[in-house]
Amino acid sequence: MSALDTNIEKLNGFLDRFRESGIRNRIAGEDRDGSAGVFQSVSPVDKSVICDVAHGTAVDIDAAAQAAHAAFAEWRDMPATQRRRILLNVADAIEARAEEIALCECWDTGQTLRFMSKAALRGAENFRYFADQVIQARDGQHLKSPTLMNVTTRVPIGPVGVITPWNTPFMLSTWKIAPALAAGCTVVHKPAEDSPLTARLLVEIAEQAGLPKGVLNTVNGFGPDAGKALCEHELIKAIAFVGESRTGSLIVKQGADTHKRNHLELGGKNPVVVFDDADLDRALDAVIFMIYSINGERCTSSSRLLVQDTIKEDFEARLIERVNNIKVGHPLDPETEIGPLVTEEHYNKVTSYFDIAKEDGATVAAGGVKVGDVGYFVRPTLFTNATNQMRIAREEIFGPVLTSIPFSTEDEALEIANDTPYGLTGYVWTNDLTRALRFTDRLEAGMIWVNSENVRHLPTPFGGVKASGIGRDGGDWSFEFYMEQKHIGFATGQHDIMQLGK
Ligand code: NAD
Repeated sequence: MSALDTNIEKLNGFLDRFRESGIRNRIAGEDRDGSAGVFQSVSPVDKSVICDVAHGTAVDIDAAAQAAHAAFAEWRDMPATQRRRILLNVADAIEARAEEIALCECWDTGQTLRFMSKAALRGAENFRYFADQVIQARDGQHLKSPTLMNVTTRVPIGPVGVITPWNTPFMLSTWKIAPALAAGCTVVHKPAEDSPLTARLLVEIAEQAGLPKGVLNTVNGFGPDAGKALCEHELIKAIAFVGESRTGSLIVKQGADTHKRNHLELGGKNPVVVFDDADLDRALDAVIFMIYSINGERCTSSSRLLVQDTIKEDFEARLIERVNNIKVGHPLDPETEIGPLVTEEHYNKVTSYFDIAKEDGATVAAGGVKVGDVGYFVRPTLFTNATNQMRIAREEIFGPVLTSIPFSTEDEALEIANDTPYGLTGYVWTNDLTRALRFTDRLEAGMIWVNSENVRHLPTPFGGVKASGIGRDGGDWSFEFYMEQKHIGFATGQHDIMQLGK
């Protein structure tokens, strides 16, 4: 039996329960039907229906928010060592079911096993990392003044909403939910309607590992009703959102009346700048990895290649050869490098750029075609002879599609790199240290890597500028979002108090 057949057989074993009873909402530790019935989850691999999913609306969000509110005091007041132990147990339990999570994630999203086999482990790492911060998370400062002993403490903000997208949904959910729980918040999670499977596994795993009922609640549904209701709910104190920039604006508007705190991780059109003095072999590997891994459906992908004109011809020729070699196929085949795009809608969006590129005068140097009609497969694509004014250089395509733009000087490269509404990541390849320092200082991005692909280190700040987001995750920055600073002043003596009306 091939590795692919074995994986499909295992997947079918894991899916049986979902096929039988669907995915229900999980509220206060109980399975609940959706108030609007069900919708269907479809696999992008062969367009087959995976299962029914509870269709939650404002009614279900209200029940989940009430549950998160009811569970908050006990979770907040639980001794830190005990909360830490529970979160470490969640991490262990995630690892124990890593294969199930990975296979379900691939089938639900089209992401390949090559990358998703690590998704569960990354999720467990998120829980472990933040569990280890629980003990100090509430520590404050002593800021003595002449008449007062001033102390600060940090307290969890309350029940929070977490709204996640469909690309790498398991990892992203844990990235938001783990620090929220570690801070002492309770959570209502609204996963993306296009990838509900692993969100269900997460809440189930967490409860089995000892997370008290109601501390994490999962409501499935669509953005404009369930998502909106979560933003508007008065018991929900903050929204941690990952998704498109346009949706990010809606999140802020919807939460305005209830004074929501928002953390927005949004889209990107990230530049990778390759100077002619760089290690071009390593640069080539990184350029390819950062746009064609994870189906190009990653916010941090380097979707604009800015290549110095002195090396352009040779670099692009090597790029074309490698891109044409990338293996598109079944996501559960360990050899596959690119799987199908997540939905028909997204597939239509990504493939529409094949014509847009030609209409705007760019060259389709590799790919630019659909693959078969069984699922939503496309060939990895490279556009050359592009300018930064073309739509393929300005809009987030969010697929395995790279736009190559030449530059001649450092100033020109910087101008092109910054000429975008987005500012999530930037990648710079040069062996000139002074230039790297100068360039990164002026590059408008929340995260920059020099002579490296994106390598995540959990204590570092993660987030974007401009239309790519507001706020930072990682390290203590996560706690700053999920917690409030509180100041308490104790009089140290009988200082004068102004006596009005005496
Ligand atoms: P999306 O904005 O369409 O949906 C994301 C989530 O928001 C879904 O759960 C959806 O149901 C919900 N939603 C939609 N409308 C809503 C509303 N009015 N109120 C509340 N919730 C609503 O994004 P997507 O297509 O699922 O994901 C892809 C996008 O996510 C890309 O733009 C990508 O760059 C971005 N992303 C960013 C990061 C980051 O860290 N910056 C990470 C991953 C993905």
